[in-house]
Amino acid sequence: MLKKFIFWIFIIVLFLFLGLKDEYSESFFESMENKTFDIRQSVLSSSRFAKPHNKDIVIIAIDDASYEYVLDKYGEWPLRRDIYAKITRYIEQQKPKSIAYDLMFVKSMRSTPQADNALVQVFKDFDNVYTAINLDYQEENLRDAVELDDKFAINIRNNSKNIDLDYFEYSNCRVILDGIMNATNNIGVINVLRGNDGILRQMPLVYKYKGKYYPQLGFKVALDALGLKDKKDFVIDKRGDLILDDTHKIPLSPDGTTVLNWYGPGQTFTNIPLHELINAVEGNKTDNKKFNFHNKIVYFGATASSLFDIKTVPVDKVYPGVEVQTTYVNNLTDGTLIKRATKPIKIIIDIILVLLTISVLLFIGSMTVATSIIIATVIGYIALTYFVMAKFNLWLPLISPILYALSGYIIAVIYKYLTKSRDFDKQYKLATTDGLTDLYNHRYFQEQMLMQCQNAERYENVFSLIILDIDFFKKFNDNFGHQSGDAVLRQVSSILKKNVRSTDIVCRYGGEEISIILPNSNNDEAINTAQKLCNIVAENKFKLSNNRESNVTISLGVSTYKADGTTPAEIIEAADKRLYNAKNNGRNRVN
Ligand code: GH3
Ligand code: MG
Ligand code: MG
Repeated sequence: MLKKFIFWIFIIVLFLFLGLKDEYSESFFESMENKTFDIRQSVLSSSRFAKPHNKDIVIIAIDDASYEYVLDKYGEWPLRRDIYAKITRYIEQQKPKSIAYDLMFVKSMRSTPQADNALVQVFKDFDNVYTAINLDYQEENLRDAVELDDKFAINIRNNSKNIDLDYFEYSNCRVILDGIMNATNNIGVINVLRGNDGILRQMPLVYKYKGKYYPQLGFKVALDALGLKDKKDFVIDKRGDLILDDTHKIPLSPDGTTVLNWYGPGQTFTNIPLHELINAVEGNKTDNKKFNFHNKIVYFGATASSLFDIKTVPVDKVYPGVEVQTTYVNNLTDGTLIKRATKPIKIIIDIILVLLTISVLLFIGSMTVATSIIIATVIGYIALTYFVMAKFNLWLPLISPILYALSGYIIAVIYKYLTKSRDFDKQYKLATTDGLTDLYNHRYFQEQMLMQCQNAERYENVFSLIILDIDFFKKFNDNFGHQSGDAVLRQVSSILKKNVRSTDIVCRYGGEEISIILPNSNNDEAINTAQKLCNIVAENKFKLSNNRESNVTISLGVSTYKADGTTPAEIIEAADKRLYNAKNNGRNRVN
């Protein structure tokens, strides 16, 4: 009873622990889950399941060598904006799909108006050139929070209860050259987000600023690539996907961000060092065929370690920021962003795993076999999560189902152990007691006699034995019926048990004969006990069937180790003999 109570308390506590996750445990489980995501991504991206990346995305890498080259050639850093303009025009000759700058052309004292104007003119001349702004939380008294033109914003109707687009709301903005802002609509935000552990897994789709939503730079570039350049109005459906058109949708996380799907360290986008391009543009090497920009998405960005634009990502130690941006564009264009399993699916998986473990353990007898099946199931589930991520870009939860499976396992093992020990208790009782009287049975009596003899011999103890028999019981049965006989036998047994020490062992010797072993009792004490029992039984009114009452008496024989013998047989025989004498001497007495 108590065991059962403790068992259920344990289950309730366990499920409360798993179910009512507080903020701390939630973030703990979440960071464990993130780690499993990283492992899955690392393994997948270097396996044969790795997705091919888009060969039409090209990075113009501002690498360490280019940095030194520029310093050497122009005597200053950053690269002059008129040179950027020149390079852009050079690429435009080959009709690229788009050119995006993962750079910010802020107002700078070091840039001349001529250089700025040359760049502004590029944005005026080409509608496929993109650049970036940055949002932040700078306080207004340090820098005015500028208004951003509506032309950069998009409208989103959010029909999903699970997506909170206002999760990250920025309070200030770092703007770029007015000329560029006026010349083009092609401006996106390039803020990135890191997890609590510093690892970059997510990318916002839009950023809220002054009540409006501004798209990520990569999102704008991808829209252009998908032929949706002018689309301004978007809908998030009930399932939490942002609809682009009939065939394209973007899965969103509850905080409105997307989860990046990595192409892996084995696959990097085509990288052209900036200095090679400058070299070609400046006419030193007019080997035009060397570069192919036709129909490409060309991304300018820093890869130099000295420029500090590096991010820690799931698949490798560090990635240049521009590599993250192009991964994002690639995910958006080929529809491979990761979709996280929704809450109902998570709950269903948890329930399936916990029920499976419990039923396997309860229905399969062998613990080893059951445990093996459960381990195989968990491994199978882990493999499934890999497969599902590889094939369907779906992030199934790993930590929570495994925790539930483990809890199910513990619960089932405890349950099994408790029922087993209860079964054992039952079996033991069945094997040692008599069903009618609830006294110990003859077999147990014989075992105990042997043990008492051995103990008495080893420790030089005494012990005594009483054998008693109900007087004229045959006649009693004849008069009152067998049922009443049984009732009397039960009541005599219960009286005897109540009136001896708890260490005394009362057994049904056979028929209506009862034996009582009295450990550590000498002959005098045993005779006193026998006499007391004889009197109590004689004075008791026994209840019979049909509300009748009757008296019975008993006769008792007493023997003692070692005066009457040292073996069970000798001691039993002596008690038996005295019982016979008691009968012959008139019954209802002790001998
Ligand atoms: P005595 O005083 O000499 O012991 O006379 P008695 O009639 O009791 O004689 P004995 O002990 O030889 O008889 C045993 C009788 O006890 C036989 C049987 O009818 C009755 N008996 C034995 N076991 C049970 C039992 O489990 N239930 C009932 N109702 N009667 C039993
Ligand atoms: Mg009898
Ligand atoms: Mg008898």
